[in-house]
Amino acid sequence: MSAPRRAPSAPRVTLDTPVTYLKGVGPARALALARLGVQTAGDLLYHVPHRYEDASTVKRIAELEPGMDGTVIGRVISKGVLPTRKGLRVFQAVVRDASGMIEVSWPGQPFLDRTIEKGDLLLLSGTVRFFHGRQLQPREFVNLGAEEEGTAGGRVLAVYPATEGLSFKQIRGLVDAHLDALLPQVTEYLPAPTIARAAVPPLPDALRMVHRPTSIAEAMAGRARLAFEELLSVQILHRRANALARESRHGIAFQNRRDLTTKLKAALPFELTGAQTRALREIVFDMTSPRRMHRLLQGDVGSGKTVVALFAALLAMENGWQAAVMAPTELLAEQHLRTFTKLLAPLGIVPVLVTGRLGAKARREAATLLAQPAPLLVVGTHALVQEATAFSRLGVAIVDEQHRFGVEQRKALGAKGESPDVLLMSATPIPRSLALTLYGDLDVSILDEKPPGRQPVTSALRPESSRERVLQFVERELDKGRQAYVVYPLIEESEKTDLKAATVAYEELSEGAFKGRRVGLLHGRMPGDEKDAVMRAFRDGALDVLVATTVIEVGIDVPNATVMLIEHPERFGLSQLHQLRGRVGRGGEASYCILLGDVGQEAAERLHILVDTEDGFEIARADLRLRGMGDLFGERQSGQPTFRVADPLRDEELNEIARAVADEMLGADPELTAPEHAGLRKALGSRYARSLELFRVG
Ligand code: ADP
Ligand code: MG
Repeated sequence: MSAPRRAPSAPRVTLDTPVTYLKGVGPARALALARLGVQTAGDLLYHVPHRYEDASTVKRIAELEPGMDGTVIGRVISKGVLPTRKGLRVFQAVVRDASGMIEVSWPGQPFLDRTIEKGDLLLLSGTVRFFHGRQLQPREFVNLGAEEEGTAGGRVLAVYPATEGLSFKQIRGLVDAHLDALLPQVTEYLPAPTIARAAVPPLPDALRMVHRPTSIAEAMAGRARLAFEELLSVQILHRRANALARESRHGIAFQNRRDLTTKLKAALPFELTGAQTRALREIVFDMTSPRRMHRLLQGDVGSGKTVVALFAALLAMENGWQAAVMAPTELLAEQHLRTFTKLLAPLGIVPVLVTGRLGAKARREAATLLAQPAPLLVVGTHALVQEATAFSRLGVAIVDEQHRFGVEQRKALGAKGESPDVLLMSATPIPRSLALTLYGDLDVSILDEKPPGRQPVTSALRPESSRERVLQFVERELDKGRQAYVVYPLIEESEKTDLKAATVAYEELSEGAFKGRRVGLLHGRMPGDEKDAVMRAFRDGALDVLVATTVIEVGIDVPNATVMLIEHPERFGLSQLHQLRGRVGRGGEASYCILLGDVGQEAAERLHILVDTEDGFEIARADLRLRGMGDLFGERQSGQPTFRVADPLRDEELNEIARAVADEMLGADPELTAPEHAGLRKALGSRYARSLELFRVG
């Protein structure tokens, strides 16, 4: 960089200056900064606080009461390490603010004695409990050092993501020291109309607002701008990737012969819902086009995805191709086989099963069928993608409950043929904009309508004191010849918790409340064969009650099961509870889902979302808002550009705007070569290495 220098001894810090050249940054800190993704002074500007504290979120110490969750700021007036009877060493401090003092305790963290000094100001968040008086056990804390007490008095405190060897405070010092020199060098690169449309501040202002906010609202406005530019970038990159992928994705152009599909429509015992018809139209469009289908069919539990998949399979088959449907468990594969066998009987088609359980003879027979270049419907587990399974002419690959498979397994089925069309199905309902962001190179169809005549599932949250009555209620359903699920979050008694594990409950229930009934146990640590045997027994009506952990979550259909009793409901995520609840209400009888337990107020509020609605989309949205995206998608969906600031769900509105802006921009200027997009193109190029390729920058 040929930046002008003010004085030879004080080189000007520019956005490109490596952090190692900054005062106070030695090799160790430079390494720590690199771990945070900060290489240059400019990166430092983008290392944004993940949390703010101000007087409005900080409580007075005197206000804290046992059971309460709160954040306080106080000065350490005494400290020390105490041994406990169990041999655990506890670091304890007493902190004081203008209103009073409180004991703070960190069990098992004696090393804090080295970093927390008497006189230090601590910001502490955690739960207050009663232990010889009020005691705070911090979930999080920040050592503000021996600085002035200004923080509580109205100033907003920015808390930065820190790392080992580099404290939040050191980061803040570093940002503070260089902010004034760096900000004037930042220029806005987004077109003015775009900024106006998103209603966010221009970049230099936004960066000042996130690092040195005068209020939390200002910090949020600044954050929105940074989130928006991330969302916009990712939308642009995905669109571009999609467009390029689509051009190069050659597939099979099936003919819509209306032969088998029309016969199935006539033979179905029900009319397709509007949503099923719409999804099917989208699938037929993809399959009859010469480019390869990459479609995600999303629909809540019970929305009728299976039959849609069957139509896709028949379209391939009436063109002389094979179709494969892969399910995550043996049981589910068998269930699909039964469903298909029944629906296809009038058409004279017999589907074939391929699972790991097949005997050698059945396997050979299946292999022979697969090797023939004739239309065939194959249903199976991941055995379908194993090397031994060879298709002669795979035309369409369908993956049910796709989120249960790893990225590699999903891809492997699509790799079985020349380039079969691919249909992924999932019951984890997520908003369309989020699906696009997460899945990138996929088109999405949504079943947002349930088949008519479904009985709603009556749900309720009941306290421990109602246990007797709840069990009596379950009894009455059993008396009517119905079946019940009892679901537990854990499978073994854990030392740390007092949760009743499913195994203990199973023994208790079969000896007590359900004595004389046929009670089965199903949990994740049982061998696969045993699991299947128990589930089969329940399905066939040989068991009345199934005590289970969440292993029953996926796709199983037992219409005679009308009650689900869920213990420790607060341990589950809302979406998971919704999936569980989908196991009942599958027949014509009234069905019930009872959440049983004494839960805290926060949990009760959360659970009431589930009790009040059966709309999986609404539930998933609430769940994501409450728990963040990690739990729902885990690592399985990795490989997508990550967001540093934005959260596609929390920022759904911004994401919608970003989507619209990206559409228009690329519609008018597909390669982003117009002068008004030069800045954006450069920003994309430097921030997302992938875009270099996509836009052939340089
Ligand atoms: P999911 O989307 O959860 O996989 P399924 O495909 O298993 O749902 O369908 C649930 C039940 O609804 C099945 O018993 C199926 O036969 C039935 N079903 C599907 N579509 C319709 C429809 N249009 N009308 C009535 N029942 C339907
Ligand atoms: Mg299903």
